[in-house]
Amino acid sequence: MTKKIPLHWKIIIGLILGIIYSLISSNFGWNSFTINWIDPFGTIFIRLLKFIAIPLVLFSIISGVASLPDPSKLGRMGAKTLGAYLITTVFAVSVGLLLVNVFKPGEYVAEEQRIKNRIKYEVWVKQTTGVELLDGVNYSADPQYAGYLDDAATELDREAGNQTVESRMEAAQDLKSTTPLQFIVDFVPDNIFAALSDGGKMLQVIFFGIFFGIVMILLPRETTQPVLAVINGANEVFLKMVELIMNAAPFFVFALMAGVIAKMANTPGEVLEIFKGLLSYSVTVLLGLLIMIFVVYPAILLFMVRKIGYLEFFKRFSPAQFLAFSTSSSAATLPVTMECVRDNLGVSKNVTNFVLPIGATVNMDGTSLYQAVAVVFLAQMHLVDLTFDQQLTIVLTATLASIGSAAVPSAGLVMLIVVLQSVGLNPAWIAIIFPVDRILDMFRTVVNVTGDATVSTLIAQTEGELSYDPELKI
Ligand code: ASP
Repeated sequence: MTKKIPLHWKIIIGLILGIIYSLISSNFGWNSFTINWIDPFGTIFIRLLKFIAIPLVLFSIISGVASLPDPSKLGRMGAKTLGAYLITTVFAVSVGLLLVNVFKPGEYVAEEQRIKNRIKYEVWVKQTTGVELLDGVNYSADPQYAGYLDDAATELDREAGNQTVESRMEAAQDLKSTTPLQFIVDFVPDNIFAALSDGGKMLQVIFFGIFFGIVMILLPRETTQPVLAVINGANEVFLKMVELIMNAAPFFVFALMAGVIAKMANTPGEVLEIFKGLLSYSVTVLLGLLIMIFVVYPAILLFMVRKIGYLEFFKRFSPAQFLAFSTSSSAATLPVTMECVRDNLGVSKNVTNFVLPIGATVNMDGTSLYQAVAVVFLAQMHLVDLTFDQQLTIVLTATLASIGSAAVPSAGLVMLIVVLQSVGLNPAWIAIIFPVDRILDMFRTVVNVTGDATVSTLIAQTEGELSYDPELKI
């Protein structure tokens, strides 16, 4: 009899084989074969997980809330959850800001280029209403740079038509609220079926689920018992679906990795080249993300939860992390995050069902960390010095932006536009970091889901709802 290989190992093997395959395939020019015949399986995988995510969130929130012993527990748990999510997010942004201020990745760009960038920024400020020079310095007035002025204007004109930036600017514009209270208005669905049928409306589904659950607590038990039985049963069915799909995860992850790399439409050598240009930035973002994954979250677990060993945590939670990495979507990963947290870490059903769906939508530590680094990096490479106050604005907007980001690939990039605008910088700068964004997205999604898992374990611990089994064999 062969020994059973644990799932997380199989997934790693799938992931590595996917990368090796794509290196070979792009060398032999098989990219279109990969895109036509292998990548669709990755898409199928994401679809499977996503169609499960919405009903799973709905049923699990209702069953989580309706099975609470008393409504006051809901209020307490809700406050704790939001508080913990907020603290971890602000912490993540601060880590990002600290690293970017210490390492100053923007200063690795050649001086001459930075001056050109700066002139371009000044021309943009002049052309744009409502913004002013952030640091009051005026390079354009210096006669020795006069030659750069015309080039800057032409380049700005050319960039104005950049499709990549344009489409994202429109998306960011849609996200901007019309009134300060718009984000609260957006919580409330006007048609629950429309909210359910649109993956981006997760917060509305959560709102409906909590309301439905509370009303169930208020009604007599006999009236709600049949409804609860159906909802609990349906919840189990969806969780079982996740379990079945996960058996095929190693293959799907292989397909996803092969597809992602093939679609980059570059040879691995070219990808490396792109990375080199943005190396200092990518390394700073990666360093911050790795600190969150390997230091901050394990430290919270070791010192505050105190039951789960360092390696043990990764062993039990890594299937969700690998999935987050290969799908770049916390929403698609949510069903698996819930399964790992509940079955492997021993967080009660009540806490899992309530804390994780909210986390997948509002808690994005990786995204907010990256936004902080990106804004300051872009400012540095344009010779713009951001003051402490301006950096505080970044903390605030990056936190809000990460809450508002949809849990799907590259959502953070769109929100970055909002953060750049909030400090009065040119949102078109996203084009600069765009080439490496897809890869960094994979890492920040891992941070996003790990943050959710850590907070839910912590909440479970403080609520006496953590039954971690050290003997459990994964
Ligand atoms: N892809 C991320 C997520 O789903 C969001 C982002 O940072 O773009 O968690």
